[in-house]
Amino acid sequence: MSIQIPRGTQDILPGDVEKWQYVEETAKKLCHAYQYKEIRTPIFESSELFTRGVGDTTDIVQKEMYMFEDRGGRSLALRPEGTASVVRSFVGNKMYGNPGQPVKLYYSGPMFRYERPQAGRYRQFVQFGVEALGSEDPAIDAEVLSLAMSIYKELGLKQLKLVINSLGDAGSRNAHREALINHFKPRIDEFCGDCQNRLEKNPLRILDCKKDRDHELMATAPSILEYLNDESRDYFEKVQRYLKDMDVEFEVDPTLVRGLDYYNHTAFEIMSNAEGFGAITTLCGGGRYNGLVEEIGGPETPGIGFAFSIERLLAALEAEGVGLPINEGIDLFIVALGEEAKDYAVKLLHTVRKEGISSEKDYLDRKLKAQFKAADRSQAKYVAVIGDDELKENKINLKDMTTGEQEEIALEQFVETVKGKLS
Ligand code: ATP
Ligand code: MG
Repeated sequence: MSIQIPRGTQDILPGDVEKWQYVEETAKKLCHAYQYKEIRTPIFESSELFTRGVGDTTDIVQKEMYMFEDRGGRSLALRPEGTASVVRSFVGNKMYGNPGQPVKLYYSGPMFRYERPQAGRYRQFVQFGVEALGSEDPAIDAEVLSLAMSIYKELGLKQLKLVINSLGDAGSRNAHREALINHFKPRIDEFCGDCQNRLEKNPLRILDCKKDRDHELMATAPSILEYLNDESRDYFEKVQRYLKDMDVEFEVDPTLVRGLDYYNHTAFEIMSNAEGFGAITTLCGGGRYNGLVEEIGGPETPGIGFAFSIERLLAALEAEGVGLPINEGIDLFIVALGEEAKDYAVKLLHTVRKEGISSEKDYLDRKLKAQFKAADRSQAKYVAVIGDDELKENKINLKDMTTGEQEEIALEQFVETVKGKLS
């Protein structure tokens, strides 16, 4: 019996992988423009990092983590998200002492969650995310939001909706928390078990419940915006003003809360409006987390970030019918006929490849016609034909596949000529 791929995972094959590379390259290019630097952290971490950093009342920690014990008896987890790892590294490497502040980082890599697989929801998926640590300037919030939008726009997505909210500072949150408890408590037995647990631990997350979202108390729940103190309101207004200055369109949704604990002030999501995108419309989520660095054992440090999965981004591109400018063709295909010519082609291919020219030859001892077919399939810009006779005369035939023009080139000038034509 053949072995199946694990549920909720996928192979990304040549032909598709180019899209992934293009998307990742574009995101990295924009991170460079915004001066975020790449950080790479391990794929597994102490389980405790996530129970503390993500929060032990979250679905991620309670239901979705891939946890295991290693041979030394340590409890480890495959990372379900990137922020906790980045913050762990920030603390462990004492980046709060770096001269360059804020510390602006991005990451890209696989994340793991034990979820019910469906379109746009996998058990292994690739998240691209950024974190800016060490500044509580509303301009950084606006920058992070605008970077996320820039990545989507640069890739050609148009049907996007940026939704923002403020969760306020600790004071505002506590006042809102009390109001939420008072609001839900009298009828909490009508809610799911998760919500009943959330009531005292983290009532804000009741608003994020997928099971009870249609309960009438949801619509009438007290809005955080009414509980923002002056400082928090001022902060939120500045973020909005900067976004307007940057021509980043957004909507304010006071019911938007993020699934993770430790969020405060700015919270946001980017959704796709594209028709036929399916039930899952959230492409990207993020927000400010001013308590997280301390929770992981560092000094009090503000932070803000976002994460999106490449899987949902590609699904949005498909739903909008956006094609990516991916060129799969190669520069040169060398067709060789005759024993000597074939041997020579091995050498010649090596020489042109050293010059950075993407090139290919036949390895299946194909006849002339089949070699030309292979050249066609490779979408080569140029096809070089070399036979034993040409070799004797030190010549090679070069065909420009766009114009159909052919010319004879002296062997010793071949590499320079091809390089010149390609540049
Ligand atoms: P959802 O409500 O869809 O479960 P989430 O709140 O769990 O999302 P976050 O933890 O905020 O998502 O992760 C940020 C982004 O990562 C999401 O907006 C989405 O693009 C992506 N993402 C999360 N879980 C998955 C998954 N299982 N498969 C693919 N992408 C995912
Ligand atoms: Mg989720």
